[in-house]
Amino acid sequence: MKAQALIFLGAPGAGKGTQAREVAKEFALPQISTGDILREAVKKGTALGLAAKAKMEAGQLVPDEVVCGIVEERVAEPDCRAGFILDGFPRTIPQAEFVDKMLEAKGRGRPLVINIQVEHDVLMKRLTGRRTCSVCGEIYNVYFNPPRKQGVCDKDGGKLLERADDNAETIRQRLVAYQNQTSPLIDYYRRKNLLHDVDGNREPEVIATELIGFLKGA
Ligand code: AMP
Repeated sequence: MKAQALIFLGAPGAGKGTQAREVAKEFALPQISTGDILREAVKKGTALGLAAKAKMEAGQLVPDEVVCGIVEERVAEPDCRAGFILDGFPRTIPQAEFVDKMLEAKGRGRPLVINIQVEHDVLMKRLTGRRTCSVCGEIYNVYFNPPRKQGVCDKDGGKLLERADDNAETIRQRLVAYQNQTSPLIDYYRRKNLLHDVDGNREPEVIATELIGFLKGA
């Protein structure tokens, strides 16, 4: 894979986190999820967490300058030297312009953008059924990929939690934010010839195998 920056684009529930995790493992690159960083900050009650909490609970986007600051700091870490995976960032045109400038300033070339497309009904089941291990972060789904024992992680026995923003009203708001603010990025990157579409309606393992095969030749 030639690109140093890989971007995962897709609606909430498209499987960005799941696929980014597999690709990160395969290519030994850090996975930078702005959602995970923000959730961690909320949990710890830091200034960042306090600033982001209300927006996240309402299913709205956190201001661009906040998330751009997070990413700028994170990609300056030594583990990002060979490249990195952005999961859930950028989500607005100004954030995408920020990424362009950042990559250019650091001589990292152009990003490769993986656009995961999923039908609305599948998205809803993915979001309402999602459970995450409180210990290792493994993602399950009560409809599609249930753990062997209800509420418990197969790998480490950690408790499985539902995300605070995976409730019906917040999900609706998150999908609206995606439609209005994030989906214009599809055209933004397609016009630059940087977009690779993926059919995200299939089993996660099938998607990951195909995607990793594509990236090896990209
Ligand atoms: P995620 O885990 O990617 O679904 O993100 C969860 C929530 O974090 C979103 O609904 C937003 O409130 C916030 N968030 C994550 N990434 C961004 C971003 N790039 N820009 C603005 N808000 C974000």
